[in-house]
Amino acid sequence: MPEAISPAEVKKKIAVVGAGPAGVLFATMAARRGHKVDLYEKTDRIGGKIVPGSVPRIKYDIRNYLEYLENELKTAQKAYDLDVHMNTEITTQQLKAKKYDAVIYAIGTRSGTPKISGLEKIKHVEATDLLLDESLLGDAKNIVVVGGGVVGCETAYWLAYEKDDRNVKVVEMLPHFMKGTCTANRGHIIHYLKDQGVELLNCATVKEFDETHVLIEQNAHKNVPNPYNTWQPILPENIENPLAPKLGYEPKRVALDCDLVVLAMGGKPDDAAYLEGQKELVAPELYNIGDSFSAGRVLEACRAAYALSTRI
Ligand SMILES: Cc1cc2nc3c(=O)[nH]c(=O)nc-3n(C[C@H](O)[C@H](O)[C@H](O)COP(=O)(O)OP(=O)(O)OC[C@H]3O[C@@H](n4cnc5c(N)ncnc54)[C@H](O)[C@@H]3O)c2cc1C
Repeated sequence: MPEAISPAEVKKKIAVVGAGPAGVLFATMAARRGHKVDLYEKTDRIGGKIVPGSVPRIKYDIRNYLEYLENELKTAQKAYDLDVHMNTEITTQQLKAKKYDAVIYAIGTRSGTPKISGLEKIKHVEATDLLLDESLLGDAKNIVVVGGGVVGCETAYWLAYEKDDRNVKVVEMLPHFMKGTCTANRGHIIHYLKDQGVELLNCATVKEFDETHVLIEQNAHKNVPNPYNTWQPILPENIENPLAPKLGYEPKRVALDCDLVVLAMGGKPDDAAYLEGQKELVAPELYNIGDSFSAGRVLEACRAAYALSTRI
């Protein structure tokens, strides 16, 4: 970030909805440029998804970033015209009544868990809720994490390393776990998951739940890749590997013993409030940034927030 921030040519009254990384970064930068900013957060903590994301001990870099955001916000509140309203889920009508020049929506994602038959029969929890409240774990011994992206694998890692005596399995429909994560991080997590006896089931789709099982259909074809193999980088989908063995499909039904299902099937951008704001003409300028625009990582959320804060 440049050291000298150019003051805003026109000082605006701005509302920011959501105090995750995108909302906090935008609010502090915009206030620093001379705008009058109100930041609204519906919970009692800033940080959004990086709060659960920083729970596993290995996530100390994310925890540091959360502390950095907390400090930046405190400093900006003292130095600039920035008010923070915690525990406030502001409505479209309230925003409209306050006559802002601009409203920035940075409200993150909503759960992307699809409807799967029988889920109501078995004890289940979203990975993000479990990370925030480990009492939800109870005395579960056989835990099945559904979704082998970065959130599912990091949650499995946390369960395996920080919670004693649990059998953890991760079910992923794709051939590879943690797709889209850099090879070094992916290799680290998968290596240690193997070390701790976490069973990774790839090319496996959850079909149904009953009271004590997760029923999956797994591809038993001989060319299904070894899920623990991390020396081989995952090629982007548009690059065909002519040497890759062709993957056939031999479905096999398996019932996994389970007393707690942990759902980690990704989040979807939560743009409902932004769209309602557009419909209700809540302010002359409206923006949707961060995960509520496109679910990604801290980097993308903060880049969008920073770019907007320098030109508003
Ligand atoms: C478990 C987990 C681990 C992760 N680990 C990493 C990682 O290691 N590295 C990485 O780069 N990314 C990671 N991510 C992704 C990263 O956390 C997100 O990309 C990032 O937090 C998005 O920031 P955001 O500000 O757009 O949204 P969020 O962080 O989701 O923040 C949105 C905020 O808006 C608030 N809000 C929602 N609705 C309202 C409303 N109506 N009124 C007021 N406030 C509202 C929410 O309470 C929340 O505080 C992880 C995500 C998860 C779930």
